[in-house]
Amino acid sequence: MKQTRPRNLASDNNAPICPEAWEAMEEANRDHASAYGTDEWTKGACEAVRRIFETDCEVFFTFNGTAANSLALASLCRSYHSVICHSLAHVETDECGAPEFYSGGSKILLVEGKDGKVSPDSVEEVVHRRTDLHFPKPKVVSITQSTEVGTVYTPAELRQLGAITHGLGLYLHMDGARFANSLAFLNCPPKDITWRAGVDVLCLGGTKNGLAIGEAVVFFNKDLAKEFEYRCKQAGQLCSKMRYLSAPWLGMLRDGAWLRRAGHANDCAARLEDGLKDIPGVKVLYPRQANAVFAKMKPRVIAGLYARGWSFYDFIAAGGCRLMCSWDTTFEDVDQFINDTTELTSSKEDHTKDHPVQKH
Ligand SMILES: *Cc1c(COP(=O)(O)O)cnc(C)c1O
Repeated sequence: MKQTRPRNLASDNNAPICPEAWEAMEEANRDHASAYGTDEWTKGACEAVRRIFETDCEVFFTFNGTAANSLALASLCRSYHSVICHSLAHVETDECGAPEFYSGGSKILLVEGKDGKVSPDSVEEVVHRRTDLHFPKPKVVSITQSTEVGTVYTPAELRQLGAITHGLGLYLHMDGARFANSLAFLNCPPKDITWRAGVDVLCLGGTKNGLAIGEAVVFFNKDLAKEFEYRCKQAGQLCSKMRYLSAPWLGMLRDGAWLRRAGHANDCAARLEDGLKDIPGVKVLYPRQANAVFAKMKPRVIAGLYARGWSFYDFIAAGGCRLMCSWDTTFEDVDQFINDTTELTSSKEDHTKDHPVQKH
């Protein structure tokens, strides 16, 4: 029986495990190995991360991004400190207060900035706004690469943010849930958008890149990694059969699979943007740089796409539909979506009663 393609542009975490990660998992599954990260696979994965970033950094593996971000932030803050981030940042909108919880109360301070990026001026403004002891002392700037709206900070933008952040005596944290997509877009060495630009700690995303499970916390500022393993253990993030968490990283990082897979997802998004921007009544909302396209469409068109089996979010970030491509999205999927959108735009079909669309 012919299988129909999943019409899924909801998220890159809806995609299956990619072959390179799966094969590495199988290789790790042939024998016994020591537990809690003392095995050869984990050592190798940490080495692979160091090789890619061309520096001696401390690497830890967690089950998910919420834990990676909040434990990383907790290690940069005391309870009376604060973390500056964009109002659309995942740490603010999608982590259920975990950064505040794990840091024992550090407050998140929101700033704005065009295209989902923290503006350097807003960092200066919020730090200088209050310097008395009644206000939670800013200690960290947290940025997302690629951003929640699918845009990418350039190396120059990051260097500027890094200089301002360190100049103010703050640390720079990067939520890199889609770091590979930003790198594939920029086509620069990973060090240029991390430690060379002043990033102290990076939460490197694996799940959305094609792993089954897992993110890596990468401390470029090694002093900040002190006792981090205790935080992981206390938070239930120390995997006992660690090799199954770490081996897939080896699979992704060897031979550049992580960038090829992310680059393909980006290419799909670029094709999607190209097709959508010419359809009357469809408005692409942000510069498409990584693997997401945000588009404003009529509720009738959105409902029609749902009726045809497509899934995507229509309420994320600042509005519009978020169409997220993954390593396994195909050009045929993209063309189908564009065709369906084109057809629905010019038809009278109305499914809004069966498929309620979130206000946006
Ligand atoms: C998906 C995502 C995360 C990680 O989320 P988990 O569900 O906790 O793994 C972190 N930051 C951003 C920007 C994300 O999109």
